[in-house]
Amino acid sequence: MTSRRSFLLGSACFGAAVSAARNVQAEVSVELPLIAGKDLGKAKTLPAGRYDEHIHVYKDGPAKPEAFAARIAEAGLAGGCVYSREQTPEPRLSNSSALTPEQIVDNVIEWCSASPTLYPFYWIDPSRHDAVDLVDMAVEKGICGFKVIRNNGYPCDGPALDAYRRMARYGKPVTFHSGILYDGVPSSEYFRPVVFEPLLRAQGLRFCLAHISWPWCDECMAVFGKMYSADDNWSNRPNATFRKPVAKAVPPKMFIDSTPGAHGIWRRDAFMRMYGSPFRPTVSKRFMFGTDCDVHDYMVSYARKTQDFDDALFREFKVTDAEVDAYYRSSLQTFLFG
Ligand SMILES: [Zn+2]
Repeated sequence: MTSRRSFLLGSACFGAAVSAARNVQAEVSVELPLIAGKDLGKAKTLPAGRYDEHIHVYKDGPAKPEAFAARIAEAGLAGGCVYSREQTPEPRLSNSSALTPEQIVDNVIEWCSASPTLYPFYWIDPSRHDAVDLVDMAVEKGICGFKVIRNNGYPCDGPALDAYRRMARYGKPVTFHSGILYDGVPSSEYFRPVVFEPLLRAQGLRFCLAHISWPWCDECMAVFGKMYSADDNWSNRPNATFRKPVAKAVPPKMFIDSTPGAHGIWRRDAFMRMYGSPFRPTVSKRFMFGTDCDVHDYMVSYARKTQDFDDALFREFKVTDAEVDAYYRSSLQTFLFG
């Protein structure tokens, strides 16, 4: 993918900056010039309304952006994030075929083309040797964020951390599958919330653990607390374990999405802990609504039913209007744009 490299050669010192960055381990950052990805005309602030942060392209087939946008509106929603199809065709994805990464990115962008508040995300395999180049390619095409489901390795092993650092440099967020995955293979050890701790080494990355990591919802919130407290650790304890690096340090920002995952009594329990614990003031500004629906057949009744369920919990737990707005809208805005 040398073309991606040449795209980035905006200044004479860029190559030196890249090699310097690659040589620097762990937390120390080197400022790289940012490329401006293609402007797809997406809204930079989210108008009032409700948004679904977790929608998939599960199958191949021609994009039908207008029909999809109409279903979203029918579900009482103003937009959301759409994850591209994954790279490797798997049995659990019906009708999938071999597509290039570029074709996959183009496809999800097309699915989102009927609305400025539908944001395309690229489902990337961060363990690929060319993962950093794939990040560049997707940003160049205008992608708004990334999705990762890695069921055969830990999320930050191998070249993955470099890919996340690249996303952070572009200011693009990433949503990880977390929680048990019914994929027919032994994979839960890769999805426990604690295995995402190495993201502390991805400065400034905005990342989301999906599904409240069900059934490890408490662990998810504990990791959230750790990530959140990194702000204090990094800025106020220059000589402690989290020694402030020489270069400007920006801790990662963790978000959580509510996509089921946690249904029924488990969902009520997770929400009760979220809004009934000292985490409430912080986590309520980083908690987002999601459905896991498919662009080909967005399930309007399911999306409405999930909102009704959550709204009933919000009434029960006396969640404020501002917190409800954060859940359905403003947390996502922060996730997308910082
Ligand atoms: Zn999903």
